Amino acid sequence: MIPVLTYHSINITGHGYAENDHVALARDLEVVHRAGYRVIALDTLVDWIHGRVGDGDVANAVVLTFDDGSCLDWQDVEHPSFGPQRGFAGILRDFSGAHGVSLSATSFLIASPQARAELDRTCLAGLGWWGHEWWAEALDEGLIDLGSHSWDHLHPTLDTVAHSRGARGDFTAVDTRADADAQVARASAEIQRLAGRAPRVFAYPWGQASAYLSGQYLPRNGPGLGLEAAVTTEPRLVQPSDNPWTLPRLTCGDDWKSPEQLLERIGGS
Ligand SMILES: [Zn+2]
Repeated sequence: MIPVLTYHSINITGHGYAENDHVALARDLEVVHRAGYRVIALDTLVDWIHGRVGDGDVANAVVLTFDDGSCLDWQDVEHPSFGPQRGFAGILRDFSGAHGVSLSATSFLIASPQARAELDRTCLAGLGWWGHEWWAEALDEGLIDLGSHSWDHLHPTLDTVAHSRGARGDFTAVDTRADADAQVARASAEIQRLAGRAPRVFAYPWGQASAYLSGQYLPRNGPGLGLEAAVTTEPRLVQPSDNPWTLPRLTCGDDWKSPEQLLERIGGS
């Protein structure tokens, strides 16, 4: 039973644990480490689900994932309302340096440059925090791996989305081959073009796995795109018998609101 934890670097509405996923990630890493857990790569979990590595490779493990792929996953920023913020990558480096352990996480990226530029204005401060300049550098360093979080997230604040019916705010609306190609296949190709490598794991926007995507499109077409698994936000731990196209995750702020609650959720206390 392996917990996959989800953080959002754009979640900054204050300085406290509950209002700031940067504060939460740094605290959680310390608490989880003290409780005897180690951080493994999402790739290792995917290998385990596919039977390519044994239980020993995932013993006492947690997996870290970051959703939406803003620059705050990678770099430190000066937030206009809440001051200096350590980027998620910096938090991982701080932890690694303090404890002498190596670790990695996976960022789930929104592929479309146009969608990210628009989301930077509608969801962030319009300071150019949703670029892709860091993607290839991240792959080179190996600290942060790159996954796919669709072409444009069908985000409701976008003027146009890549969907035949213009559906927004509900990823289960991706229920045809053409719409799935537009949101999944095109995203993988764009991430490969911009980062140099295709993603191995897909994260459904809002965690919403439609029956079509998880039951038909991804099992048939995912491997040809380089995809081997997909993650939802069904709030439970991953079991060895889980379907690789609907792996569950726990989400910071929704499924735990303090390090103590996190330890309870992952079975540490
Ligand atoms: Zn998202």
